[in-house]
Amino acid sequence: MKIISIVGARPNFMKVAPIHRAFNRTPDKIISKIIHTGQHFDEKMSQIFFDELELPVPDYFLGVGQGTHTEVTARIMLDLEPIFQNEKPDLVLVVGDVTSTFAAAIVAQRNGIKVAHVEAGLRSFDRGMPEEINRLLTDQISDYLFITEESGMINLAKENIPQEKIFFVGNCMIDSLAYYTDKTSNTQHLAKYGIESKDYIIMTMHRPSNVDHEQGLINIISIIKEIGKRKKIVFPVHPRTSNKLESMGLMEELKSLNIILTEPLAYLEFVTLMRYSSLILTDSGGVQEETTYLGIPCVTFRKTTERPVTVDLGTNILMDDLNVEKTIQTVNSILDGHGKKGTIPPYWDGNAAIRIRDILIQEFYS
Ligand code: UDP
Repeated sequence: MKIISIVGARPNFMKVAPIHRAFNRTPDKIISKIIHTGQHFDEKMSQIFFDELELPVPDYFLGVGQGTHTEVTARIMLDLEPIFQNEKPDLVLVVGDVTSTFAAAIVAQRNGIKVAHVEAGLRSFDRGMPEEINRLLTDQISDYLFITEESGMINLAKENIPQEKIFFVGNCMIDSLAYYTDKTSNTQHLAKYGIESKDYIIMTMHRPSNVDHEQGLINIISIIKEIGKRKKIVFPVHPRTSNKLESMGLMEELKSLNIILTEPLAYLEFVTLMRYSSLILTDSGGVQEETTYLGIPCVTFRKTTERPVTVDLGTNILMDDLNVEKTIQTVNSILDGHGKKGTIPPYWDGNAAIRIRDILIQEFYS
């Protein structure tokens, strides 16, 4: 069975790495190839992940780069079609909810190739998020839908996806976290930033709803100003956010604050920093799950989350806007010891990729 997995942006790499590793352990059954669309292409958002996560040089690199959603989608589709026609894979595997996910799924489907979607069924019910549209459309045209949490089952049933296509396997992003426990459990990495275990907070922000308008950025700066009085803050700035800060003339003000600003961090370093932090302020999808697994309190600046298990069972709290007062109250309460303790959701045990592989082998060879 030939399977082509698609990666495109930062949150894809740590999901595909354990899947590719699992496929490679059964070479008599699966030929595993990887296509990188090049949606994220620079050293800090892409190459470093290939090196650290032991991913091979991709079989194809499309280099689609930046552009509007339409431009990027169209370029990926045009570039992928001849590759799929030439390679004739039995299955195209897509992960998550980025533009590359949907673009690859539709090209595969139109060329009569089966599609597997890893991390299917997640819904924020906020159609203003481009990712939500990618999730909805990808799930509608997938043949195998691998879900990370129970909410996925309920959402897909409501959308009339047949039960027999849905498999509750757990979370491949957590597979990577579990696999690299040893490499991310060394407090020596903290010294470089002058921080010690539990004496700092991490912040990540990059969703358009928070960083694409001036008021959002001003609120982020006010929050940092206040919280910085109590704890050190480490803020690896996403390229989208730094572009917006620069273009709105707010970067200098941010730099003048009591804050440790960095470029986007390499995966192992970022996970190490998460593991020893006292809490995380974020709007990331994946970080909500990783903090739940690590037992670190997480405050997520979103109205809704497509990953409700992180709130129901995990350590996540939703903050529906960038309200300075409310955020400071919540952060103070967590730092005073009232954060959620949380438990690890079912099947988040490091073996999701193996389950996916075994299901696919069973389906194809029986
Ligand atoms: N991440 C990283 N370096 C950073 C920030 C995040 O390696 O500086 C990792 C993080 O651990 C998680 C993934 O990137 O595995 C999340 O990606 P991102 O927040 O960009 O995307 P989202 O999950 O919001 O789609």
